[in-house]
Amino acid sequence: MTESADHKDFVRQIVEEDNASGKWNGVVHTRFPPEPNGYLHIGHAKSICLNFGIAKEYGGKCNLRFDDTNPEKEEVEYVESIKTDIKWLGFDWEDRLFFASDYFEQLYQWAEQLIKNDKAYVCSQTLEAIREGRGTPAVPGTDSPFRNRSVDENLDLFRRMRAGEFEEGEHVLRAKIDMAHKVMLLRDPIMYRIRKVEHHRTGNAWCIYPTYDYTHGQSDSLEGITHSICTLEFENRRPLYDWFCDALEIHHPQQIEFNRLNLTYTMMSKRRLLQLVNDGHVNGWDDPRMPTISGLRRRGYTPESVRSLCAQVGVTKHNATTDMVVLENQIREELNRTADRRMAVLDPVKVVITNYPEGQIENLDAVNNPEDESAGSRQVPFGREIYIERDDFMEDPPKKFFRLGPGREVRLRWAYFIKCTDFVKDDAGNISEIHCTYDPETKGGNAPDGRKVKATMHWVSADKAINAEVRLYDHLFLTEDPDEVEDESLDWKSNLNPDSLRTVSARLEPSLATATEGYRCQFERQGYFVVDKDSTDQNLVFNRTVTLKDSWTKRPDGKK
Ligand code: ATP
Ligand code: MG
Repeated sequence: MTESADHKDFVRQIVEEDNASGKWNGVVHTRFPPEPNGYLHIGHAKSICLNFGIAKEYGGKCNLRFDDTNPEKEEVEYVESIKTDIKWLGFDWEDRLFFASDYFEQLYQWAEQLIKNDKAYVCSQTLEAIREGRGTPAVPGTDSPFRNRSVDENLDLFRRMRAGEFEEGEHVLRAKIDMAHKVMLLRDPIMYRIRKVEHHRTGNAWCIYPTYDYTHGQSDSLEGITHSICTLEFENRRPLYDWFCDALEIHHPQQIEFNRLNLTYTMMSKRRLLQLVNDGHVNGWDDPRMPTISGLRRRGYTPESVRSLCAQVGVTKHNATTDMVVLENQIREELNRTADRRMAVLDPVKVVITNYPEGQIENLDAVNNPEDESAGSRQVPFGREIYIERDDFMEDPPKKFFRLGPGREVRLRWAYFIKCTDFVKDDAGNISEIHCTYDPETKGGNAPDGRKVKATMHWVSADKAINAEVRLYDHLFLTEDPDEVEDESLDWKSNLNPDSLRTVSARLEPSLATATEGYRCQFERQGYFVVDKDSTDQNLVFNRTVTLKDSWTKRPDGKK
């Protein structure tokens, strides 16, 4: 389903057909319409790539419009974060930043027009009575007792609603369509509610607020949108979108619905992500475990990797869930090409090389990126005492364990062959020190006599290594589908993974001392890492972006 010259998704096909038929005179104008009630997630990225991408590909324009009709849940912080995230993804709305709230006056005037044309009325039923009166898909609704109010009475009441003369819930404005319509949403939908709350942009100018349905199509229309692209759950609202544009006799964009992006082991609902933040299950919207764009950025994802994911999943008419691995592979593949290799020991145990001169340090050449010759090399200090990973040593190794054990020889990456001669245990029975000898003839990692070893291990100099806090992440949820619960007393929160964050004190090669926020590299055999914003001069903090697919990186000679 990847994009290619000979296969266009159905949305692009529609755009091309419209361009060919001259339906919009060759104009392509889309918009991305977020509600500023949370941070953007990777599902939104799909919509952003589609809307901004189509505009770019067909010489059109894409607007950013905040769909800010709900005064209660919306905040300036969200507006700013959304702008930052869209820019980071590589898209630009230029001078076309809009807010649905800018259209409140126009929408109000149009509402009066509909009242005058007997296409809207003030209904004074309770919300519950309105709901009951709507009927069911099988049973037609019943007319509101206020449905036949005169135009004058409706105008008077609506103006007094605006003037603040009534309390919340006393009246609503409804479109006068058909209480028996087979499309339930067309059974006299609500256009305005009284809400005595302050709005983040219009302040206290309004105490009546338009509904999404009464706002969205008209906002598109005012901006001259041609293709109003949204997700499949809006398909059933399309008749209403069309009805308002037709009733007002205004420019009428075409609404087109596509499938949402869903990923395994996480979820895309802003309402629930907000709950995770508010209840402290994560450390904010940009927690690296979150599927938010800011979380992915902090986790070490690049804009390219997020865009590639969106291109790879494509656009269809069928909802599906994409395996998280598909996203992870995007960043693995990119960082394999671009990231420097470094050595870091996440769970250190000391090795003393007993035949290496005390106090001596030598610098060894280490290739930065075997996939990219131009990345050059660096020097890593080697000495008598080094650290290796605790699990790279076994006192009594089974047959299939090829790494270090008593009497065994292994290669230290970029350094020497070492052979284990002895080990020391502490009082608790844990290995506290491993003793080895090294073979000076094997400098650089190859034996002149051609003898082979079965493992190559990373290491750092005990004297020269620097400390870092390293945060290792696992899935946010234990189940592929967070909604999958064993019995009804449980909800999605019971599937939260209690071990989704593990923090370790690691030892890193000293070249990493100058790494600053956003620096990405591969820690050999451990995955790809990025310096976190929590880093300070005193405390270097790395996040693991993703593990390596294989347990070992490719060697320059192509051998495992
Ligand atoms: P959520 O359900 O997460 O709260 P939303 O649809 O309410 O999302 P909006 O701010 O209204 O969030 O979304 C802005 C645009 O992004 C809409 O056009 C919406 O269709 C699209 N969008 C939202 N979620 C996804 C998703 N998972 N995949 C693709 N597009 C999405
Ligand atoms: Mg929404």
